[in-house]
Parts: sequence; structure tokens; C-alpha cells
Amino acid sequence: LSMEGWRAVDEYFTGLLVDEDDALRAARESSVRTVLPMADVAPNQGAFLALVARMCGARRVLEFGTLAGYSTIWLARAVGQDGCVVTLEIDEPTAEVARENFVRAGVSDVVDLVVGPAAVSAEALVDAGAEPFDLVFIDADKPSNPTYLALALRLSRPGTVIVCDNVVRNGAVADAGSDDPRVAGVRAFTDMVAADPRLSGTVLQTVGVKGWDGFAIAVVGES
Ligand code: SAM
Repeated sequence: LSMEGWRAVDEYFTGLLVDEDDALRAARESSVRTVLPMADVAPNQGAFLALVARMCGARRVLEFGTLAGYSTIWLARAVGQDGCVVTLEIDEPTAEVARENFVRAGVSDVVDLVVGPAAVSAEALVDAGAEPFDLVFIDADKPSNPTYLALALRLSRPGTVIVCDNVVRNGAVADAGSDDPRVAGVRAFTDMVAADPRLSGTVLQTVGVKGWDGFAIAVVGES
């Protein structure tokens, strides 16, 4: 199958199963005004994140990498009005686009958007004694994935679910000799999941409108 076939299959299932309203569509389309146009998750992937949040009964979600807030809106709607999504974004003009989208989607009260380097913002949450999160979505600068995983663990409890996007990278992840720092970030992240006795995880490859990529998913066990 080619990209054309993957797209057709995504369109088929998304058309039947994914309820992307005007606010979500506007958020996705507004990513062209951000620092990384079109880097948001696909509609069916947003729906997948929302399902994961609902399946683990998440009330508190931490997201590394906001962009236009597309994935954030899916997560915010999944946690409901009593929940909260803390989302970390480095680029202020991009954050401004996301804020507009949160207002349009009616999730501003649920979302706490923190602007700054995500590692610094997450470290500040640790220092402030933030309550553990139920779900963490890692989707910022890929070389920092190991740092974000370590911080996620410090902000977790047994049962916390951690999802990381873009771990396949068009197959590049299988190349141990790759000099791409994003591939190195994914491989170091995966080594950490494999080595940490608190974590059970796996990776699912995906194809679709975003090409060939994948999600890692892990759950935190007892220390
Ligand atoms: N999660 C978003 C979605 O699916 O709608 C997409 C996020 S996009 C792949 C990555 C985002 O991470 C960009 O908005 C980028 O500015 C942000 N980012 C990159 N480096 C960062 C850093 N060091 N700290 C915080 N955010 C960062």
C-alpha cells in the first residue's frame, strides 16, 4: 500500500468513527500559523488519545508539546469539566494560536497552558509537589524524549499511562547507526522503558495521513 491507500483507509474509518467538530477542525487547520505546520496528530489519533484517557479514567493529563492545541482539545474533552490538562509549549506565538483554539472549543477552563522549555516547566511541577498525573502524552522535541520520560515518571503514580508519539519515524528508528538526534531520542526512550522495572510498554506502528510512524504506550507499575 502507498500513502494514497493509507489516506483512503484513514478517511474511511475517520468518516465513520471520528467526531471532529468545527472547533477541532479549526484547531487542526490553524497549525499552519504555528512553528510546526501540520505537526498535530491526525483526527483518528486524537480520537485514540481521547479513548486512552477515558479507558484509564484520566482526570489529570500532562502533555509535552501543545502546537495549536489539537491533541490538547481531544484530551481536555476526554477528562471533562472536572479534569485538567497541563500542556507545555516553548513557542509563545504558537501558544497564542492554541489559546484561541481552546476558547473556540470551550476547554479554556480545563487547560493550563505553560509557556517555556518543557523540561523546565515539568521540573517546576515536580518542585511544586504537583499531584501525580493519570496520563502523560509526550509529543514535543524528540531528542528530549528521555528527559521527558524521566520527568513524567516523577509526576506519575502506579497506574499512570504514558504515550509517546512519532517513535517510528518512517522506519528510521530501526537504524542503530542513525545520526538523527530525533531517532537517538526515541531509541534512548525505548531503552529506558525496557530497562525500568516500573514500566511495561510496547509500540504500535501506524500508517495513515501522517505517513509511517507509531505510538509507544507504557504503564507505570509499583516501584
Ligand atoms: N501535540 C500536538 C498535537 O498533536 O496537536 C503537536 C505537538 S508538535 C509535534 C511539537 C510541539 O512541541 C511544537 O509546538 C513545538 O513548538 C513544541 N516544542 C518543541 N520543543 C519544545 C520544548 N523544548 N519545550 C516545549 N515545547 C517544545
